[in-house]
Amino acid sequence: MRKWKRTKRRGKRRPAEIVRLELCDLCGATFAEGEAVQGYVPDSSAVSPGNDCWDGLRRITACGPEHFAVLREGYRHRPFTQEELWAAKIDRASPRGRPA
Ligand SMILES: [Zn+2]
Repeated sequence: MRKWKRTKRRGKRRPAEIVRLELCDLCGATFAEGEAVQGYVPDSSAVSPGNDCWDGLRRITACGPEHFAVLREGYRHRPFTQEELWAAKIDRASPRGRPA
């Protein structure tokens, strides 16, 4: 009877860890999701695709607190207009695709 010799696999491969990346809204740098500095700023052109209570808020992502502060300051001076918010809501509710 022949015994099979069990050999060790060389270079065992482990599944690679999936690292989600984020993109800085100011400088475009990419970094790991956990390192992101995120927050919401008022923006009348932003509507949430699924939840009305987030309408008028835009999520911003930055590579660090300095770039987050620059982004937040930029939105602070942006006018918040109800007409723009309603236009964004109407656009969201409008059917997509070619008109019938
Ligand atoms: Zn940045």
